[in-house]
Amino acid sequence: MFRPLFKMWNVTAPVPLSRVIMRHLGGYPLLFALQWTLILSLAGCALVPKPAVRQSPPPETVFQVSTINALLEGLYDGEMTVGQLRSHGDLGIGTFDGLDGEMVLVDGKVYRVRADGRATPVADEEKSPFAAVAFFTPGQTKALRQVQSFTELKGELDKELVNRNIFYMFRIDGTFSYVQTRSVPRQSKPYPPLVKVTAHQPTFEFRDVKGTLVGFWLPDFIGGINVPGYHLHFITADRQAGGHLLECRLQDGKVQVDSSGDLRMVLPANNDFGRADLGRDRKKEVEKVEQ
Ligand code: ZN
Repeated sequence: MFRPLFKMWNVTAPVPLSRVIMRHLGGYPLLFALQWTLILSLAGCALVPKPAVRQSPPPETVFQVSTINALLEGLYDGEMTVGQLRSHGDLGIGTFDGLDGEMVLVDGKVYRVRADGRATPVADEEKSPFAAVAFFTPGQTKALRQVQSFTELKGELDKELVNRNIFYMFRIDGTFSYVQTRSVPRQSKPYPPLVKVTAHQPTFEFRDVKGTLVGFWLPDFIGGINVPGYHLHFITADRQAGGHLLECRLQDGKVQVDSSGDLRMVLPANNDFGRADLGRDRKKEVEKVEQ
């Protein structure tokens, strides 16, 4: 029978603790042992640090460093390494420290298309001031034939945008009868704004070439953060050349699409970013630099 402990404290002569406990339990040593085993194991559970639960983001999280407005402003200092970017995605686009070329991330490999149009693999230590990447896990593949322009291609890709308020990643592999791209030459400080750089952008033409287009379609409300609409970069099948897509004619190819409702941004920690005016409406500038 249960007897409260305070009753024990009323005794005049000191009583050994073991006897107090035995009395409290009514003299059942097995019950005593069980009770303390339970108490000690519960206390142990509370004291042993639990392993941290990793809240891994959904696979299609769009991961981006800096903002398009920061790039338009001329903030070209590399912020995040290529290695870090690759840990957040295997498909994506962006640029490099000093605006040194167009970035193409495809199949987990990062390529740089320099101002001569040539593509080369990029080491993990190189840095990027602006990029968006995601792990690409597409659903079914859609075949495309005889697409006569980038505008027509956009029309085809539009059919995949079932919800125009989320983010889409695209990959198009195929044979192109024509592709026009551009790249940007490396800049030195003081950095000019992006519109001044792209006003003299080198452009490249490819004919009857196999290659891959990768990139995003993002909704209008993303303005200021990234580029609304389509933004695709091209790389040839041999990964030797490419650039930011300006025009194309697709003979035949396949489209793969993936969507995401998750966006994670990492903003540069440097003073230039902290001081920049990034709230201005730069829609016209974006349209200019993307063409
Ligand atoms: Zn681009």
